[in-house]
Amino acid sequence: MTQPIQQKSLPDAAAVWRWLADVKDPEVPVLSILDLGIVRDVRVTEEGEAIVMITPTYSGCPAMDVIGMNIRLALAGRGFSSVRIEMQLQPAWTTDWMSEDGKQKLKAYGIAPPTRMSGQELALFEDESGMSCPRCDSTDVRLVSNYGATSCKSMYQCNSCHEPFEHFKCH
Ligand SMILES: [Zn+2]
Repeated sequence: MTQPIQQKSLPDAAAVWRWLADVKDPEVPVLSILDLGIVRDVRVTEEGEAIVMITPTYSGCPAMDVIGMNIRLALAGRGFSSVRIEMQLQPAWTTDWMSEDGKQKLKAYGIAPPTRMSGQELALFEDESGMSCPRCDSTDVRLVSNYGATSCKSMYQCNSCHEPFEHFKCH
């Protein structure tokens, strides 16, 4: 007796969450998209479609296209009839959604974690208040440039250990 392949049960949403834990932020590869807190919902329909709802950290952030592609790659070959990425723009992402684990990983990577809290608008021009050096924890830091390697990060320099570092501001 042979088992038809179609009877293989479909992976559930819990399995999708586990696979999404392996999808990294293209700009900060130590962070997964779950660390970032951008995955809002996962559903698997009866038709076998996987739907992943994400909220961009920053509208117009180019990394979002790459993240969408990486989600598709992570779920490809898992038995879904299709994979759909839905963008949920409201409520807007806040740094509160980033996991504590994620903030620690970011700091260990040498990037100061985001300081924007829920309800606050994204500041176009930053100031140094509340910022500390990810290497030596000194708060004696100065802003070097509003834009670092990408528009999502700004450049700082520590006045204590003199190391430059990036601050993750929107993504
Ligand atoms: Zn320092």
